Amino acid sequence: MLDADLLAAAEAATGFMPADEGRALAEAVLAAPAGPVLEVGSYLGKSALYLAAAARPRGSKVITVDHHRGSEEHQPGWEYHDPALVDPATGLIDTLPGLRATVSAAGAEDVVIAVVARAEDLAGLWATPLALLFLDGSHTDESARRDLASWAPHLAVGGILAIHDVFADPADGGQAPYRIYRQALGTGAYTELTGRGSLRLLRRDR
Ligand code: SAH
Ligand code: MG
Repeated sequence: MLDADLLAAAEAATGFMPADEGRALAEAVLAAPAGPVLEVGSYLGKSALYLAAAARPRGSKVITVDHHRGSEEHQPGWEYHDPALVDPATGLIDTLPGLRATVSAAGAEDVVIAVVARAEDLAGLWATPLALLFLDGSHTDESARRDLASWAPHLAVGGILAIHDVFADPADGGQAPYRIYRQALGTGAYTELTGRGSLRLLRRDR
C-alpha cells in the first residue's frame, strides 16, 4: 500500500516525473527487498516523494543526493532553465531551498534524507546495501556512466535498479540513460521488470 498523502504531494510537486511513471517507481519500491532507497538527482523533490510514498509504509528511508547546482539543461539559456531557481547571491542554480520546502510541506522529513553532494563523492563513502537505486541525475554520457559505475555496486542482490529518461529513439530524448540501461542489461546481472514510459526497472540477480 502506498501512502496516499505522499502520493498526492508528489503529484502536486514541481519536477520531471509524470504521474504514471512516479507511481510505477513507487510500486517498484514495494516490490523491492527491505532496505533503504537511494535517488541520484533530487531537484525539487518530486520523485523523492513518490519513493517516500512507498518507503514510509515499509519503514524504509529515502536518501536523495544532489549537488543542487542543476544539470546542463537547467543552466541559463538551456531548455529547462527556471530563473526563479537562481540564487542572486551567487548567480548559481540552487534547488536546495525548494527541495526542503517540498519535503517539509509534504510532512516527509522523517522519511526523506537529503544529502547535498556530488553523487559520485557520496558513493565513495557509502557502504549500506540498497533495496532500490534510482538514477535520475545529469544526462551526459560521462555523468550517467559515472552514476551507474559508482552506485550500481551498492545495490543489494535482489534489489531494483531504476533508470529514468530512457529513450530508445534519439528523436524522443537524449541517449545517455538509454546507453547505461543497455550497459547494465549487457552485464547479464539484471533481469528486466515491467517499466513505464521512460522508466526502466531492472532487478539485480547476482
Ligand atoms: N528526480 C527529479 C529530477 C532530477 S533533475 C524530479 O523528480 O523532478 C537532475 C538533477 O540531478 C539536478 O537537480 C542536478 O542538480 C542533479 N545532478 C546532476 N549531476 C549531478 C551529480 N554529479 N551529483 C549530484 N547531483 C547531480
Ligand atoms: Mg528524469
